[in-house]
Amino acid sequence: MITILNNSQTSKKTFLRNIIFMIGDGMGVSYTSAYRYMKNQDPFEQVKRTSFDPYLVGQQMTYPNDPFLNITDSAAAATALATGVKTYNGAISVNRELKKLRTILEAAKENGKLTGIIATSEITHATPAAFGSHNTDRNNMNEIANSYFDERMNGKHKIDLLLGGGEEFFVRKDRDLSKEFMNDGYSYITNRSELLKNKNHKLLGLFAKREIPKMIDRPKNIPSLEEMAHTAIQCLNQHSNGFFLFIEGSQIDWGGHNHDIVSVMSEITDFEKAFNCAINFARTDEHTLVIATADHSTGGFTIGANGHYYWNSETIGAFKRTPGYLANELLLGANLNDILLKYTDCLFTSDEVKNIEEAIQTYKPEKIENAFKTIIDKRTNTIWTTDGHTGEDVPIYAYGPYKENFAGLLDNTDIAKCLFEIIERKQVILAH
Ligand SMILES: [Zn+2]
Repeated sequence: MITILNNSQTSKKTFLRNIIFMIGDGMGVSYTSAYRYMKNQDPFEQVKRTSFDPYLVGQQMTYPNDPFLNITDSAAAATALATGVKTYNGAISVNRELKKLRTILEAAKENGKLTGIIATSEITHATPAAFGSHNTDRNNMNEIANSYFDERMNGKHKIDLLLGGGEEFFVRKDRDLSKEFMNDGYSYITNRSELLKNKNHKLLGLFAKREIPKMIDRPKNIPSLEEMAHTAIQCLNQHSNGFFLFIEGSQIDWGGHNHDIVSVMSEITDFEKAFNCAINFARTDEHTLVIATADHSTGGFTIGANGHYYWNSETIGAFKRTPGYLANELLLGANLNDILLKYTDCLFTSDEVKNIEEAIQTYKPEKIENAFKTIIDKRTNTIWTTDGHTGEDVPIYAYGPYKENFAGLLDNTDIAKCLFEIIERKQVILAH
């Protein structure tokens, strides 16, 4: 339920021009708490705060409106966050009757703002898609890419800036959307140096065929989420009506599905840097609202396990590449000792080395990866309870004008409902 508030009840600086909406996909509280532990060199000293912590304002419920399931997928959660309507798992901003739902990005465009979408997954993946597209099935990624070009508002393109992975959905045999975008005045870029030089706010940047490699595995010619966020903010902030920018740390969730805590921490670091970039801009600008949240949690990740009262993050910090990256190098014939010396700061026991060697003999990448993950989980005292999502509430962080509206216990739909009201320049607060 939404109640309109008068001026005196909201913050002093209520003039709002820009909205930056960020989702750490799968970044539930067990992840943000573990990330806080990770900040410590000594696991038993007082825990230091993360960049997210000072901005915590509330938490939100994530359940979907699905006839068979009551734990959400990313499509239903992102639809709720983008449109204010709960729907079935797999839906991209359509309701249970398959009707299109208006998104907050569309409302921003209708109100004269520039718009942008950034993700480290394919830019057509469920979460970014729910902000910029409509489809009955999240798997229709070619259709979603087409819609980013084809769907117009008042004859103009709906999305001004798109940065992420997923080139193969845009540059295809049947259609080359990169050329179509360029014909309409967009710049098309595919690497980091082109991104850093770009000044055009009409921009399509696709940096990988599918997902962008995880931060700690990422080659230098692929930008970080922070660099994408920085360029987007600079380019979109050229317009007197302001902008709406959606930014996703997409692969925190993927690390969780894969029971790979090294990947999870790598991707939260990438997301945290982008969050700092958004906050720094908002602090200087004073007319920007930053919201950051998660869509659900993933993997049933635990801080501590098996009745033991400790969680030791040291081993995670000692890995300079993900277990999947190490497995691929070893499959390509690299020497195990060389790999361990080059990419880890661990002293491995003879049993641990033996287990990795046995996995290498199978020539199966997942077995080699699992050998590393088993070592990491055992040393850290981590367990995982599911390879899917979990249904607990997730944190909400907010900074800037109207941040009070996101305090307390919200439903995921409340966030979009509130943003619609804000975009339409009313002053609101959610009644709890
Ligand atoms: Zn997921």
